[in-house]
Amino acid sequence: GLHLTREGGHSARRIVHAADATGAEIERALVAAAAAHPAIAFFQHHLAVDLLIDEVAGVRYCLGADVLDQAGGRMARFVAPVTMLATGGAGQVYPNTTNPAVTTGDGIAMAYRRGLRLPPGGALPPGGAGLGAKAAVANMEFVQFHPTSLYAAATPAGADAGALAGGRSFLITEAVRGEGGLLYNLGGERFMPGCDPRGELAPRDVVARCIQAEMEGRGESHVLLDISHRPRREVLHHFPNVAAHCASLGLDITRDPIPVVPAQHYLCGGVQTGLLGETRVQGLYACGEVACSGLHGANRLASNSLLEGLHASRCAGAALAAAAAGADFSGPRAPRPLSPSAAAWVAATRRQLGQLMWSGAGIVRRQADMRRALQGIAQLYVETKALVASYGVNTELVELRNLVTVGELIMSSALQRRESRGGHYCEDFPQAVPQVGVGRVCVCVCVYGSPQGLGVGRRASCCGLLMFGWRFGLGWRRSRVVV
Ligand SMILES: Cc1cc2nc3c(=O)[nH]c(=O)nc-3n(C[C@H](O)[C@H](O)[C@H](O)COP(=O)(O)OP(=O)(O)OC[C@H]3O[C@@H](n4cnc5c(N)ncnc54)[C@H](O)[C@@H]3O)c2cc1C
Repeated sequence: GLHLTREGGHSARRIVHAADATGAEIERALVAAAAAHPAIAFFQHHLAVDLLIDEVAGVRYCLGADVLDQAGGRMARFVAPVTMLATGGAGQVYPNTTNPAVTTGDGIAMAYRRGLRLPPGGALPPGGAGLGAKAAVANMEFVQFHPTSLYAAATPAGADAGALAGGRSFLITEAVRGEGGLLYNLGGERFMPGCDPRGELAPRDVVARCIQAEMEGRGESHVLLDISHRPRREVLHHFPNVAAHCASLGLDITRDPIPVVPAQHYLCGGVQTGLLGETRVQGLYACGEVACSGLHGANRLASNSLLEGLHASRCAGAALAAAAAGADFSGPRAPRPLSPSAAAWVAATRRQLGQLMWSGAGIVRRQADMRRALQGIAQLYVETKALVASYGVNTELVELRNLVTVGELIMSSALQRRESRGGHYCEDFPQAVPQVGVGRVCVCVCVYGSPQGLGVGRRASCCGLLMFGWRFGLGWRRSRVVV
């Protein structure tokens, strides 16, 4: 049968494990299965940089991600009907962490940059806020510190020999305490029983605080974890990796105590999800340490991360596959007729565009109206772009996109001309200004936002890139259109 171990905060032996490297074993099996699957392609050394998120009629959609091909030094755009964030935690933000070099919080930061912020009113309750309020980046203050990472400086080989890639600290698994390991200060005294009645098997946060207090109280750099009283064969059988790593630094854990200090280990917060990994953004899922499903509350229990990862990824995978199968998405280039609801949306958007043009750049114009209209057109552009991306090429959509672009150009140009002349009559500047003259129609404008509203600046020369920014929803957005 399976051997069950026990760790901090557990009241019973319940942890199925693969010696002292359970996560590595899960990863090995998963990678092997994925590699054998004909429908799965691997893109190694590709770094997701930003999510592609757009908003259509008040609903936010994720359309994939911009990715850096690190080997080729190129950017690539992955357009997808559904996207899963599985980028892990953010341990590298701390100077002392058990996490590998790749845990730089990428998924959380990407989601945050695209507006998945905490809802107004602050933090969500540790248990999560339920499906109704999902998809903020939440609970980021709940950082778990593991009580026992190896303090390599106190091993015979010293700190330099013990340094791991990415500055991470080597983890001495909690199962060492689960199997009877005891903590001592450098004076040889056990201090946990005096700190918490559960002793060495108190939850992680408690043990980490007790160790910290003991070190500070005695002015010591580390404490000692001793398992040498257990039978040698048993220790080597349960902890082959810990034993081998310590041996490489000159320590025999079946005889010597292990020098340890607390280190950052796990982030309970992240992109808030429902129980199927779904976020507030349509088509965007998250699972694993990047997600905040609420399962761990404010303090993850030992060994529950891998369990959550296995369970949540299975649920999210099934939900994601179903969403992908039913998605109105056929790639950016595939032509496709509009559905009745999309056709109605296109017609309504054209009408809305016409109204904006008439109110802003009609027969008699006013600067304030033009600014308002320009903001409205920018919003229409985002919505149209999202629909084009999800529908592919389609006559009505292509025409709408062109109309929105031209409307934006007219409005921007009208806003720049601070006089009245010919077909441009502006009530704020009713006279022609000879110095301005007819000049050239400049289609290269830079519209920038300010807390007071939108302003427009004229570029020195025309170029092929039109940039405009606008403010709506959660923050400033910027888009580029090659014209
Ligand atoms: C030493 C150690 C021991 C642990 N032991 C246990 C244990 O015994 N039991 C337990 O339950 N938990 C344990 N944990 C915690 C657990 O391993 C992690 O919480 C879990 O592995 C997280 O899985 P994940 O798939 O979410 O992320 P990860 O396993 O961290 O995988 C994230 C992946 O995303 C990739 N990635 C990151 N950013 C990007 C980007 N921008 N673009 C593309 N790819 C990116 C990374 O390269 C990595 O491959 C341990 C953690 C550590 C560090």
